[in-house]
Amino acid sequence: AKYVYTFGNGKAEGKADMKNLLGGKGANLAEMNLIGVPVPPGFTITTEVCTIYNQQGKDAALTVVNGEVERAVSQIEELTGTKFGDKDNPCLVSVRSGARVSMPGMMDTVLNLGLNDLAVQGIAKKSGNERFAWDSYRRFVQMYGDVVLGMKPESKEDIDPFEAIMDNLKEEKGIELDTQFTTEDLKLLVIRFKEAVLKVTGKSFPDDPWEQLWGAVYAVFDSWMNDRAVYYRKMHGFPAEWGTAVNVQAMVFGNMGDTSATGVAFTRDAATGEDIFNGEYLINAQGEDVVAGIRTPQQITLEGSKRWAELAGVSEEERKTNFPSLEETMPALYAELMSVQEKLENHYKDMQDLEFTIQEGKLWLLQTRNGKRTGAAMVKIAIDMLEQGMIDEKTALLRIEPNKLDELLHPVFDTEAMAKAHVLAKGLPASPGAATGQVVFFADEASNYENTILVRIETSPEDLEGMNIARGILTARGGMTSHAAVVARGMGKCCVSGAGAVKIDYKTRVMTIGENKFVEGDWISLNGSTGEVYEGKVKTKTPDMGGDFGKVMDLADKFTRMSVRTNADTPNDAQVARNFGAKGIGLCRTEHMFFEGERIKAMREMILSSTKEGREKALAKLLPYQRGDFEGIFEAMEGYGVTVRLLDPPLHEFVPHQQATQKELAQEMGISIDAVRTKISELEEFNPMLGHRGCRLGITYPEITAMQARAIIEAALNLKARGIATLPEIMVPLVGTVAELKHQANIIRNTAEKVFEEKGDRIDYLLGTMIEIPRAALTADHIAEEADFFSFGTNDLTQMTLGYSRDDAGKFLPIYLDNGILKQDPFQVLDQNGVGQLVKMGVERGRSVKPKLKVGICGEHGGEPSSVEFCDSVGLDYVSCSPYRVPIARVAAAQANI
Ligand code: PEP
Ligand code: MG
Repeated sequence: AKYVYTFGNGKAEGKADMKNLLGGKGANLAEMNLIGVPVPPGFTITTEVCTIYNQQGKDAALTVVNGEVERAVSQIEELTGTKFGDKDNPCLVSVRSGARVSMPGMMDTVLNLGLNDLAVQGIAKKSGNERFAWDSYRRFVQMYGDVVLGMKPESKEDIDPFEAIMDNLKEEKGIELDTQFTTEDLKLLVIRFKEAVLKVTGKSFPDDPWEQLWGAVYAVFDSWMNDRAVYYRKMHGFPAEWGTAVNVQAMVFGNMGDTSATGVAFTRDAATGEDIFNGEYLINAQGEDVVAGIRTPQQITLEGSKRWAELAGVSEEERKTNFPSLEETMPALYAELMSVQEKLENHYKDMQDLEFTIQEGKLWLLQTRNGKRTGAAMVKIAIDMLEQGMIDEKTALLRIEPNKLDELLHPVFDTEAMAKAHVLAKGLPASPGAATGQVVFFADEASNYENTILVRIETSPEDLEGMNIARGILTARGGMTSHAAVVARGMGKCCVSGAGAVKIDYKTRVMTIGENKFVEGDWISLNGSTGEVYEGKVKTKTPDMGGDFGKVMDLADKFTRMSVRTNADTPNDAQVARNFGAKGIGLCRTEHMFFEGERIKAMREMILSSTKEGREKALAKLLPYQRGDFEGIFEAMEGYGVTVRLLDPPLHEFVPHQQATQKELAQEMGISIDAVRTKISELEEFNPMLGHRGCRLGITYPEITAMQARAIIEAALNLKARGIATLPEIMVPLVGTVAELKHQANIIRNTAEKVFEEKGDRIDYLLGTMIEIPRAALTADHIAEEADFFSFGTNDLTQMTLGYSRDDAGKFLPIYLDNGILKQDPFQVLDQNGVGQLVKMGVERGRSVKPKLKVGICGEHGGEPSSVEFCDSVGLDYVSCSPYRVPIARVAAAQANI
């Protein structure tokens, strides 16, 4: 086998599609050589060697690769006319890690490797600059000590031992800047650095370039297994077997005087996506100086430079003298860089992020990769490249990272303002967006100020209206499928949930976060995209949903097989979702309708009455409300199917807990307050999620089912009379046995027939069920006999399959995730191997009886890209998700089908 791939001088043994073997960086270094981009010669040790090293040890790795590395080093020496350790013409190299995906936490870079007391003389002679030679040597010992010999302190607060030595010398000499060190100072630093190495590691600093090289190579391999890298892999589900490659490359110097420079550039604007080449550089500097923020980097293009000066408040005079662009300082090299960037973008057909160095008037590229970008830039670049004929439609669509579209749908924080904001706490990014407002603790106080943030331990359906009024919602408890999170996402409202550090005392109306106390009216800001809670006001801006977004959506429609519906409970939500391209409603949770205004009273009357007559009387009051709601929703979704789910949550969620309300209710019903309280305590359950809810309610109180069925059918008939086509789909929740469904289906069908008779007209409707109890999935063939459609309720199915309470999992899920026991929150990302198997089985068994059975999903997973892909693979007809996730699901569904 071959373990080392060389490149240089327009030739390369590897190429771009060998990322798995050579890592991203190595594959692109090879490719750049092949397309005639100037790259310093070097070689890549493959990822397989990393695996051998980690599994079989150092000796095994050395055995397989030693000869090849020697040959590869000689090739660098030949191409550059240098020799390892030579006192006249030493060969210096850089050593970098490079996995197949870029990965934080791994060893980054060692520069100037090969320097020792002899080689430093050679560099001094060659460059004619003794100070430069010793500065390079000093940097090398420091970098090598930090990253290879492990002397870099773990925490940012601890000072680097080498920096400490430099600070001491500055103090001794009464100077302030590194640039003020003389050659003699630098020589002294090298000595002191090496002493520090001996003291800390117990070994002398390696002088032999070969020993240096192997040390650095092994350090790269070791860094693959360090805690941070392991953690990162776990988080993303990347296997350890991937390994990292090692790139060794001849050094080029951007710090050899005024004809040398170094910089980073993007072929397009990574923030806006505009097709404008841009970047920063510094004359007479080495790589890390540009990003280290010691000197102000200068803009590469003249246009960029002028724009920068305007923003920074720098006059044109001053700009020209102190911060000129590369276009002005080195016009010929600028032109060459321009043509290289064009070549690279045309070759890779994606926006590139590049690193370059100019050594004494010669341009070298050190790296190219697909650049990271914002959601807006992602959309613009994909559509621009499509329209420029660089990529085809499928490629353009695959360039869209569905979740990133979210950034385009909600108000966002002003980037600068956010960077300055003080982070108070962090919770779950439950519903994206940015919100700034004054703290209120009770839903009915959400309109006390113009902009409020509703702060609750957790929310309940009673808080609905207040949640709608507030700008954002912060809860101390609850996960991604907690009430607050689900409802907020549906509303497109910013929400941070489960922020454990937030302590709320409703009695004293005080929120405490660490040392900070907040009372009603205090300003805070929420970042629903990161879960961060900021102190005070942070400036927001509304994002611009331009035409490119629409073009992406059209592409999605062109390539998708599944359709995308929405979960919506109000005509407004339905309209929002329709504007985002939803084709129907996959879940209308009717219980939400019982909370508004006067209806809650009738609802409570129904719950508290102890006779069937009493309940029917109350239900008669509710009927017109429900019918009206359904008419509104059907109308908003004209022409599309609307799935209405019958009442699901346990009744005690509707009863009043405040004494005043209890009293009022008692008076209205003409019973004693004690009777009210007794009834309320009767309704209390130890485990409501597994208690008296779903179709169990409809079976104990058939009149509820009858009323809801009547409201649905009457609404549809009323619309029909107005010439509006609807297709109601009545859905029974929480079915576990076919007998439950049969029972409810009987009531629904009988009611429908009754209404048809009364009205002298009919409509088509479907009758189906949720599959959200494991037993329903297991017996889906029986259930399908009674159902026109299935809708997988993966929230409950996850809860019951894993045995994790939706309401309480927030206590242990973070720990499970930290320990890698779970890779992802199963309430956010469908557990494909477990819960997903039940979904797959449910589809197969259901369709074994009814091949055309319509099947969808309406759990939160319906808007999560990897889960959507799974839904496509098991043959679902549609996914349904909250309105603001509709665009995300549309793109994910199309991608799944490409
Ligand atoms: C589900 O369980 O997945 C579902 C959609 O219903 P709910 O979240 O209302 O229980
Ligand atoms: Mg459910």
